[in-house]
Amino acid sequence: TTFADLRLAEPLLRAVADQGYTEPTPIQREAIPQVLAGGDLMAAAQTGTGKTAGFTLPLLQLLASTHANSHPPGRPRALVLTPTRELAAQVEESVATYGKYLPLTSLVIFGGVGINPQISALKKRVDILVATPGRLLDLISQRAVDLSGIEILVLDEADRMLDMGFIRDIRKVLALLPAHRQNLLFSATFSDEIKRLADTLLQSPKLIEV
Ligand code: AMP
Repeated sequence: TTFADLRLAEPLLRAVADQGYTEPTPIQREAIPQVLAGGDLMAAAQTGTGKTAGFTLPLLQLLASTHANSHPPGRPRALVLTPTRELAAQVEESVATYGKYLPLTSLVIFGGVGINPQISALKKRVDILVATPGRLLDLISQRAVDLSGIEILVLDEADRMLDMGFIRDIRKVLALLPAHRQNLLFSATFSDEIKRLADTLLQSPKLIEV
């Protein structure tokens, strides 16, 4: 299988080639077509499997192939939630790398640093927002972020988010999202708590285990 076989668009194939990737990893082979098809996804995947490209590449393609109704500042079309600032920064770097030939913008926000630069950054157009839950809620309460335009939600390393006590924050965020959207849940493990979250979040999800 090649990345082209997975029906990725040319700007993404070029970005992938620039990275030196010759073939998709198993999770990418499974996840990319599923995400492009538009359905919800629940994937069991460890770090190091290539899961980030597995959701980032099709997410970029979906956003690039459809137009936002409107994209005022601070109103992203895709939201990726991660447990830590390190992971958030890595994911946003991947989004920027794979999306470099597409006219899409991304931003990362996380706690532990000043909020004002993030408020300023959110005054520009942001298509893909990568965030840790607590800081995201702070920025929402300051009206710097509006989640009513979210088309795709990704929960990355969901098990770690629950371990770190983010379930209440996640549920607050979920309550602010439009009902009609695509949901992707990635987790290394599937505890009962993750399954409960998946039950409330996902509609007829495809399951992937690699
Ligand atoms: P992840 O599991 O998403 O953290 O990715 C692990 C590492 O694999 C990252 O350094 C990626 O740059 C790299 N990677 C992702 N996809 C591929 C691929 N198809 N071929 C080679 N390396 C890849």
